[in-house]
Amino acid sequence: MRTNVALATIMSDASYEFTPCPVCGAVAATEVAGVDDIRAEVERLWAFQGRRLDGETPICRLIDRVVFSQGPPLRLVACDTCAHVYRNPWERREALERAYRNAQASSISFEHLYRAQRPAFAAQARRLLATAGASGRGLEVGSYVGAFLAAMQRTGWSFEGVDISRDAVAFAADHGLNVALGGIEDVHPGRPYDAVVVYNTFEQLYDPVAVLCSARRVLRAGGLLALRVPNGTFYRRWRARLRGPFAAFAVRILAHNNLLSFPYRQAFSQRSLSLLLDRAGFAPVRVVGDTLVPVADHWTTWLGAVEERGVKWLERLVQRGWRAPWVEVYARRRPDAAGDRRAALATAP
Ligand SMILES: [Zn+2]
Repeated sequence: MRTNVALATIMSDASYEFTPCPVCGAVAATEVAGVDDIRAEVERLWAFQGRRLDGETPICRLIDRVVFSQGPPLRLVACDTCAHVYRNPWERREALERAYRNAQASSISFEHLYRAQRPAFAAQARRLLATAGASGRGLEVGSYVGAFLAAMQRTGWSFEGVDISRDAVAFAADHGLNVALGGIEDVHPGRPYDAVVVYNTFEQLYDPVAVLCSARRVLRAGGLLALRVPNGTFYRRWRARLRGPFAAFAVRILAHNNLLSFPYRQAFSQRSLSLLLDRAGFAPVRVVGDTLVPVADHWTTWLGAVEERGVKWLERLVQRGWRAPWVEVYARRRPDAAGDRRAALATAP
């Protein structure tokens, strides 16, 4: 009853709407976490970060640790048909875009993120080169501070980025990166790209299907799409352990991967992502399981940094492919007309 009253109160501000499964359209879903469960996760996250961060840590360094562009969900469900995990109700398009468009961070915070993310994006750049070839033209959707674009600079690839945050685009441009304000729907290349990548952004989009169809439009036949998304099945498995004897370990596993309190719009299952790619005219060619990029920095206690390295090392060792907290999926644009028909159907009302 308390949960229902809280939901009804929040829903009355008109920023939220109910939705069927955004991947398969099914209505039947199972609740993963309610208002009180999410509140308990947020409290655990603050306690976790409070233990591992220096007491003098400035507020701006809490961005992407306990403060995210998307606030915590009201309620999370999993689709009974495709196991997709999503907020329901979730933020309307205007409320969501406002949150990202207004996402501001100080230039110091952007610089910290840029430096912290570069080593991890160098590894992603190597994986892209191994899958897509040594050279080509590419587009990154949601390029943010530009760490991936920077990692691709000394390769045979020419990469551009788009992002809807004016501050992030200005920061990346100041670092000499080729970025533009906007989304993939605003991109009209003279000739098709060889690769489109969407890293740590796809799960936050209002309409991922429309983005995949745009990716198909700007990619050449056989061109590569790379997505990096949180694993919804992983989240469900480990959040179920928050109540058991392994609760302390489950907190660490989820928090080190930015999954505690679920600051995303949705997270994928193997089935839901395969379904989405197939409908948009893409054929998966490679799956790589991974952890979140390292986040320990100057403000993290030495014990916190050592623990993070240890937990992520162990996870990368034993949690491969769709057992991992984050999953990179590489898929090729189907060259056939059937792919175009599927993509057209995917955007049909
Ligand atoms: Zn579904």
